[in-house]
Amino acid sequence: MADVAVVGGGISGVACAAALAEAGLTVDVLDKGHRLGGRLAAQTLRDTGTPYDGRIVDVGASYFVADDPGFAAVVDDWLERGLARRWTDTFHLADASGLHGTKTGPWRFAAPHGLRSLVEDLAARLPSDLVAIAHPRDVQTVSDADDGVIVDGVEYRAVALCGPDPQMDRLVLDATAPVWEPVIALTALMGERTWDIDGAFVNDDPVLTFIADDGQRRGDDAPILVAHSGPVYAAGHLANPATAAPMMLASLQRILGIGNPDWFSVKRWTYARPAFARLEEYRLDGPVGRAGDAWCGEPRTQSAWISGTALGRALAASLS
Ligand SMILES: Cc1cc2nc3c(=O)[nH]c(=O)nc-3n(C[C@H](O)[C@H](O)[C@H](O)COP(=O)(O)OP(=O)(O)OC[C@H]3O[C@@H](n4cnc5c(N)ncnc54)[C@H](O)[C@@H]3O)c2cc1C
Repeated sequence: MADVAVVGGGISGVACAAALAEAGLTVDVLDKGHRLGGRLAAQTLRDTGTPYDGRIVDVGASYFVADDPGFAAVVDDWLERGLARRWTDTFHLADASGLHGTKTGPWRFAAPHGLRSLVEDLAARLPSDLVAIAHPRDVQTVSDADDGVIVDGVEYRAVALCGPDPQMDRLVLDATAPVWEPVIALTALMGERTWDIDGAFVNDDPVLTFIADDGQRRGDDAPILVAHSGPVYAAGHLANPATAAPMMLASLQRILGIGNPDWFSVKRWTYARPAFARLEEYRLDGPVGRAGDAWCGEPRTQSAWISGTALGRALAASLS
């Protein structure tokens, strides 16, 4: 029996497992996905009728920032090994009618092999004598035990629930959980690059909120765009996401002044992001911990890593 079950193999769960293993505890990481990474997600293009079959597109998180010293050290290591890349510090601003100037901010990082490859790298570096990773494993129940918890019939000293609240609330309810907003991501494979942006924040458009040039982001110049819908538009299309495509494409074409794509697809995120993130880094109630990007004040990838790491350290302290 391992000491701790970590439910969720996104960046928060893998960071939590790393902190637990660093303290010498044994861990089972359980994730319902076929691949690790959660919302740092990649889609492999297939049957597009173009030379891009087999190429990966980032259809979840667009990028991440790294201004926390602990996370920045992890990112520096990825940069040194060529796993991450500095994408851009400048995005365009857009509204429903088109592009209107640029805005410079922090460096945004991406990954040549897709953001998911970074979580897979963290997982591959976990000590195999301490950490076992099982997926796909859709955890169904977490219940009390005399001295710990029972996760799908297996007893552990503690459990770390690392991921979106609505998914983890099925296992253990947290009354403080924020509402989570949906997003629909549209991938559009264009014949050639006829625009000149890295990405664009879209304001005051009823359909889109963000556009990313996946070729610039990943560094291979493929003429592939990924557009994210707003939560209200997504909510109206969750039951049948394909119906979201025509208006998303129309907005994308109008904003960038581009023609029809050679191929497109949509990906539904029912729980894309929390409406707000709690200020605490994590929660630990007895043997049950919670972490993810709904903690640390800002809902983003860096927060998920910090939150998972902090929960792992807190659990290790409480169990030793
Ligand atoms: C469309 C979109 C755009 C985004 N854009 C950005 C951005 O630009 N910048 C940024 O920093 N962040 C962005 N994010 C947020 C970023 O993806 C998250 O902050 C980060 O991936 C959260 O990691 P996590 O480990 O907390 O959760 P997740 O990545 O969601 O991982 C949770 C894991 O738990 C697993 N799971 C759930 N329930 C169970 C169960 N019952 N049993 C077993 N496993 C289970 C899931 O399979 C999943 O792998 C975006 C997200 C989306 C969806």
